[in-house]
Amino acid sequence: MTSAAASLERFAAGKLSALDRKSLRRRTVETRHRDAVHVERDGRSLINVCSNDYLGLAHHPKVIEAARAATAEWGAGSGASRLVTGGHPLLFQLERRLAAFKGTEDCIVFGSGYLANLAITPALAGPDDLVLIDSLAHACLHAGARLSRARVEVFRHNDMDQLRGLLAEHRGEARHAMILTDGVFSMDGDFAPLPEILALGEEFDAWTLVDDAHGIGTVGGGRGSAHAFAPPAAAPLQMGTLSKALGSYGGYLCASERVCELLRSRARPLVFTTALPPASAAAALAALDLVAADPALCERPLELARRFAGKLGLSRPVSPVVPVILGSETAALAASAALEAEGFLVTAIRPPTVPPGTARLRFTFSAAHETADIDRLAAALKSILQQTEAAE
Ligand SMILES: *Cc1c(COP(=O)(O)O)cnc(C)c1O
Repeated sequence: MTSAAASLERFAAGKLSALDRKSLRRRTVETRHRDAVHVERDGRSLINVCSNDYLGLAHHPKVIEAARAATAEWGAGSGASRLVTGGHPLLFQLERRLAAFKGTEDCIVFGSGYLANLAITPALAGPDDLVLIDSLAHACLHAGARLSRARVEVFRHNDMDQLRGLLAEHRGEARHAMILTDGVFSMDGDFAPLPEILALGEEFDAWTLVDDAHGIGTVGGGRGSAHAFAPPAAAPLQMGTLSKALGSYGGYLCASERVCELLRSRARPLVFTTALPPASAAAALAALDLVAADPALCERPLELARRFAGKLGLSRPVSPVVPVILGSETAALAASAALEAEGFLVTAIRPPTVPPGTARLRFTFSAAHETADIDRLAAALKSILQQTEAAE
């Protein structure tokens, strides 16, 4: 081994043992999805209660068939970026459909939700600008904020007084300002107070970007968090993913025609990356057809979340994401293992994904779950939590 390779090995070994000491080492595990709910791990079948495939559409025969047909006709990969030759008509069709669904003029599809957020903020804000971001916003919104090189101020989760204070203090020095938040928070399942945020955006001339990765297909009649408010609280920049409730892969931004047009020239994760394969667009289009045809489908995950939370005496969920906070990493890992022994898969969520001291199980509910299985899950968790308390 060369000495540079050896020092790299020592560095990696040191970091890994530090992660092990803190129970923060992550592992990738082979997981086979037999259908929308059942997964196999180490030869065991488990009921998946931590998937983001909220509507079970990744396994819907029509979605699968759309992806298969697009692949057979147009190939497995798109071959180049959107700006070169990767602009398959299915991507344009998907953009029109998403814009109509979200009620915006235009839409751009990206390689993933993560890439969309690396694209949007840096294309709109720079060193003379101010970006305000919720502390619990998704990692990729934070990454986009840092990448923009704007002044970044983090406000406490959903703390409108602090957001107002930061705008009052710093808005004057900045050329432009942006406010970044999740619509439905990915690890807590709560909503951002979008009407208040949009009102502050008006008052201080700040552009609001809402990440609705967990809102599309699950709240607001399936149209996302903006539509969970009356009147709808539609931000000028609404991003989301095709990779969760829509059962496919990719990300999007719904916005005005001009803003989208600007991003087509300026967004580096659009310009310098290969376009989505036609199959991903075809699958997302088929999923949007199913959502439009059956609005009751989008209600089901939240109904199950409420049933589950009710049985455990948790506060009433507003989205299909239900956290059960255990505190320490070891407690979260132990509860996850105990549920796995009962036949349920829910991975422990640990820092840095969530703040220190809030390691948790994050349950997500799918339209494809059987009510009886969710009842069994609630009973199993209840007895695990009682045993933990008794042992303390
Ligand atoms: C999952 C997620 C993303 C990333 O979307 P991908 O399509 O999986 O890259 C972005 N924001 C939030 C809030 C998410 O939960």
